[in-house]
Amino acid sequence: MTTRYAGRTALLAALFTLMPLHGWAEPNLIKLAEGVFGIKGPGGTINTGLVVGDRGVFVYSCSADDYDQRVQLIRSVAGGRPIRYVANGHYAGDDTMCNHLFAEQGAVVLGSKELARQLLPYWPKRVEEELRRGRVKKEYLLGKKVEMAMPVITFGDKVTLDLGSHVVELLYVGKAHTPDNTIAYLPKERILFVNDLLFVELHPTADARSDTMNWQRVLRKLATWPVETVVPGHGAFAPGNGAKPLLEMDRYFETMRAKVRAMKGAGKSLDEIKRGIRAELGDFARWPREGAIPGTAEQLYRELTARP
Ligand SMILES: [Zn+2]
Repeated sequence: MTTRYAGRTALLAALFTLMPLHGWAEPNLIKLAEGVFGIKGPGGTINTGLVVGDRGVFVYSCSADDYDQRVQLIRSVAGGRPIRYVANGHYAGDDTMCNHLFAEQGAVVLGSKELARQLLPYWPKRVEEELRRGRVKKEYLLGKKVEMAMPVITFGDKVTLDLGSHVVELLYVGKAHTPDNTIAYLPKERILFVNDLLFVELHPTADARSDTMNWQRVLRKLATWPVETVVPGHGAFAPGNGAKPLLEMDRYFETMRAKVRAMKGAGKSLDEIKRGIRAELGDFARWPREGAIPGTAEQLYRELTARP
């Protein structure tokens, strides 16, 4: 290789290294089983689940800031089948802001009663916020009505979608990350989409909307299922990753709770705990998304105060 080419290669390598930092990377499609895919959001942003069934396409969670690329990826494997059903892991904007766009094309939005309750007041405010931030194309937001984003079919604990070639179970797991967490499970393929119940090698967000004890109960229960692949809401995944990341998330909360309890017991104030907790987290301390740590510590403190 000549020096000139070596220089160019080094420059390209440097650019590729910088890409995720600047959000230039695009979502990418990962095949998990026949007709089952995950779209990996760039830089730890939301991951989308995708099931291409004989009777239409099911989409689980989608973010509108890279809606065009996600739809392109969906179409690339849909074989001309329409997007027929849409569901969300929970009500947050990075998960639900494509609902109305899919609904306008004829998709049916499904959601738990609790998701519907959370989404109704939240969605119009989030649209305002996104219009101010300018990350999402204006035409996707201007004049849009919350009714289009809301579930058309609501369910209690569970609803089963029979897509012919694939069966998808949507299960409401109760209050965990937020009050409305819903997972999507494909029992035949043993694939589980858990959305924000799981952040892989990223500090998760827990706050006043969360119940970390129930969250951990759910994680431990799901880890006993015969799952081959678990797709997190945020962070890395690959086919065959199995239940291990679920138990890792459980251990994360267990570790942080023990440290918060010890610091609280030693007379530290909440502010001191929020400032000092990262140094106590061992291997977890190195994870990105460290901005979420103080909020999670505060929630654990709150829960410990309510139920010592
Ligand atoms: Zn999220």
